[in-house]
Amino acid sequence: MNETINCLDLKKQHQQIKDEIFAAFEKVYANTAFSGGHFVEDFEKQFSAFTGTKYCIGVNNGTSALHLAMLALGIGAGDEVIVPANTFIATAWGVSHSGATPVFVDCDKDTWEIDTTKIEEKITPKTKAIIGVHLYGMPFDIDEVKRIADKHKLFLVEDAAQAQGSKYKGKVVGGIGEMACFSFYPGKNLGACGEAGGITTNNETYYKHLQSLRNHGSQVRYYHDEIGYNMRMGGLEAASLQIKLKYLDSWNNRRREIAKMYFDGIKNEKIKMQKQPSWADSNFHLFVITTEKKEDFVKHLQSNGINPAFHYPVPCHLQKAYANLDYKKGDLPNSEYLADHCVSLPMYAELANEQVQIVINKINKF
Ligand SMILES: *Cc1c(COP(=O)(O)O)cnc(C)c1O
Repeated sequence: MNETINCLDLKKQHQQIKDEIFAAFEKVYANTAFSGGHFVEDFEKQFSAFTGTKYCIGVNNGTSALHLAMLALGIGAGDEVIVPANTFIATAWGVSHSGATPVFVDCDKDTWEIDTTKIEEKITPKTKAIIGVHLYGMPFDIDEVKRIADKHKLFLVEDAAQAQGSKYKGKVVGGIGEMACFSFYPGKNLGACGEAGGITTNNETYYKHLQSLRNHGSQVRYYHDEIGYNMRMGGLEAASLQIKLKYLDSWNNRRREIAKMYFDGIKNEKIKMQKQPSWADSNFHLFVITTEKKEDFVKHLQSNGINPAFHYPVPCHLQKAYANLDYKKGDLPNSEYLADHCVSLPMYAELANEQVQIVINKINKF
């Protein structure tokens, strides 16, 4: 019997780097630099260099990053922010936590990224910003979304939670709009040993404001200029991120190899894969397919020792949490189709070629 092939397995990677990570933890411990401090500052510098941006602000998770980005832009009650309907719900939380209202836009039926032809019809005098999501790690059409944002004088924020190291037209994402929000949740391509997130920007004013907002609205200790938050990054998380950032490109490249094996190897009319436009160089955070026969397909995989996952079974506009916004089934059909038919295949850098080949063979037999 072969071992089960899961959608994600964090253990192999963490066994490989355990000694390095533990040595870094020792340093944090010796310095008692548990919250903020130079481990966080060093990581911020490394990550802004990695994304080709001027500044990075480390925070406690990706949801906080999105929330603070909205606050730094002055977005709040009475404002609207455009968000794709097919994303992890936290994209919308950032908007809601600021007091503003998310306005959901459907995705393209082939790329599953925000449908740029459907953005303008959602813009009202209350619209302040567009949050584009690099879904599954594949960049959305940044130039086109930016053109629309500029035309209507809207802010552009990237939700790059899934896209550490993804490239748009050859450039690493994270520096296109006003700000980009990253998650370093353990399951992301760059994940901390713990919870963490970050915001990158080229704008010094936002940078300074974000530093204050995450730290109780304070620049000088015990002097509070505005109502702030405790959303600092921890030192242990930052130390683990510094180690893992060194491996990110090689891990992403391995994911790209696996994706290529899937694209080349899967030959089954019942399976549809995410269209990769020429501008996109995904980090393949997830490898999602759709199939009309989802239930049978999942049973087939499971009975062959393969455990898929689902990203995401309910689109944002149909979540109970947003029932008050009065969307109904049929409003955003492509997102709804994706939710009903998506299956995430095993995807992580430590998958062996033999395992990928087993998955491909089983899919082709379906
Ligand atoms: C993971 C994720 C987030 C939230 O990040 P957390 O660190 O889990 O708070 C936001 N948006 C997207 C698209 C994500 O995948």
